[in-house]
Amino acid sequence: MTSAAVPNNYSRSLFRPTTVLVEDEAADCPLVESIIERLPNAEVVVVKRPTGADLDRLSQEFGPLTTLLLARHRGRFLKACPGTAETYRCCLYQILHLGLGCNIGCSYCVLQGYLNNPFITQFVNLDDAFAELDRELKRPGTFYRIGTGEFTDSLFMDPLTGLASRLLDYFGRCPNAVLELKSKSVAISGLLDYPGEIGETIVSWSLNAPRVCAQEEGHAATIEERLTAAALCRQRGYRIGLHFDPLLDFPGWEDEYRQTVASIFTHLKGDDIIWISIGAFRFMPQVKEVLKENHPQTNITAGEFIRGLDGKQRYFSAIRRRLYRFLVTEIRRYAPNVFIYFCMEDQYLWQDTFGRAPADNQELGHWLDKCCYRYHG
Ligand code: SF4
Repeated sequence: MTSAAVPNNYSRSLFRPTTVLVEDEAADCPLVESIIERLPNAEVVVVKRPTGADLDRLSQEFGPLTTLLLARHRGRFLKACPGTAETYRCCLYQILHLGLGCNIGCSYCVLQGYLNNPFITQFVNLDDAFAELDRELKRPGTFYRIGTGEFTDSLFMDPLTGLASRLLDYFGRCPNAVLELKSKSVAISGLLDYPGEIGETIVSWSLNAPRVCAQEEGHAATIEERLTAAALCRQRGYRIGLHFDPLLDFPGWEDEYRQTVASIFTHLKGDDIIWISIGAFRFMPQVKEVLKENHPQTNITAGEFIRGLDGKQRYFSAIRRRLYRFLVTEIRRYAPNVFIYFCMEDQYLWQDTFGRAPADNQELGHWLDKCCYRYHG
């Protein structure tokens, strides 16, 4: 399988910055040179480590949508997923923090409320990241599920960074960790053309109803394109994960989600899929204003929500229940044994939908680990 088979409009979500800001203290990292080589027409500007007011000034000068910031990350690269209070079950995922932001532009993107850096940012001190992984993964008896798609999309920058193959070099041989790359793009050439051991690496796509994709997911690939990419990755030997998040409640949602589920199984078999997660739409109250300003056309925050115990606005339990029951039933029609789990949901809805609930976050984490062991043999 080669990149020739990649869905042909994958470049739609490709980020092509016209300016690259390089933090002076990061300029000697090898990744800087290789990214700049792939952007021969971009203006390259070396800047002092920008903070606070500098970021505003640079944003006005260069425009955040067409500028890439290459920076050194000074904190920990590996972080626990910011899952919230024990009330909602979190799967104890670890995030490998290699970049910030994304150009896809989903209206519901939670990053709008979190980031105070306006630029899509790539951390380039990869040697520090791998050294930290070496130290962390040495811990005996611990199994790690690690993803890069929490504060950015895992693949949209890959044509510029070639990062996926660097990660495969590391995780393809890692006995006690699996890597999950999560995306709404189809920039999979680096994955398909990778010549080495891919190990148990999981490539995942976020899915939604076709209408949500068209109206709320900016430059993301279409559902068909994502699933075509998933099938190509499966042929290359990757495990496939799928994430229905955020599930939205809108007129006609049943037909729309039914259509997406049917599409999944025209491209993949149940056994190809390591897990499917589901999470209903939720947002921090302060995101509402930012979201309205950035995406005035959307009405996803209209309607009634309750304030959850984690402070996030959520649909009422009865609405979540309807969405979950419907989607799980549809998926089970095609794949009775595929592992389905909730992202940040309470015990009651676990029990109601699946007839069982993890006692705590550790148990949910253990269930997901077991999915990985199955493939580890
Ligand atoms: S793809 Fe993910 S990170 Fe990018 S805008 Fe959409 S929700 Fe945000």
